[in-house]
Amino acid sequence: MNIILLGPPGAGKGTQARRLVDERNMIQLSTGDMLREARTSGTEMGQVVADVMDRGGLVTDEIVIGLIEEKLEQDHGGGFIFDGFPRTLRQADALGELLAKHGTTLDAVIEMQVDDSALVARIVARSTCGACGEVYNDLTKPQPTDGKCSKCGASDFKRRADDNEESLRNRLMEYYKKTSPLIGYYYAKGELKSIDGLGEIDAIAGQIRDILDKK
Ligand code: ADP
Ligand code: ZN
Repeated sequence: MNIILLGPPGAGKGTQARRLVDERNMIQLSTGDMLREARTSGTEMGQVVADVMDRGGLVTDEIVIGLIEEKLEQDHGGGFIFDGFPRTLRQADALGELLAKHGTTLDAVIEMQVDDSALVARIVARSTCGACGEVYNDLTKPQPTDGKCSKCGASDFKRRADDNEESLRNRLMEYYKKTSPLIGYYYAKGELKSIDGLGEIDAIAGQIRDILDKK
């Protein structure tokens, strides 16, 4: 089963993707994580990527499609969760072609709806474990009081360089200009399922489970 989690920055895509990895043995393909890895590589490409990301812009389609193409070479029975990809119509077309080339298809596109005022509050409050990637949020899921990650025990929490108000405003604008048309695109293809992304993490996971269980 292959699915896309679609939604603005801060909608909770990464949090839900990680749950699906644990519960369903799926593979999370987060272009944001891949690009954060690329920027630490010290290459020229890494530097270009870092500049674009910190400003809150979108990295070129060529780069992200290339990253996804490489990952699809790995066989995976549990299926893929696309998290933060596709973000443009061109990426969406490319994904369709790549999946077809591997003899597989998309099973669902899950749009996580969250209102804009909630997004800014969520993003400014978030942090992640530097060791295992577990996501924390000062408002809804604070870091454990003993200072140790509840998942892996490390005590190395990080905040993202692009989780500040200015970059966030750009990320939201990029989302509305370039990514939100994908909602119509997948609706027209009959693949879109929309859920309420506000509320408890467990409740949202439940809505996703219901969709996937019907597939
Ligand atoms: P968020 O969903 O919170 O915005 P991500 O970790 O998915 O965070 O992405 C962080 C940044 O990485 C984006 O703002 C963008 O610069 C870049 N990025 C991630 N995925 C893509 C993509 N599919 N196409 C272009 N740029 C991307
Ligand atoms: Zn951890």
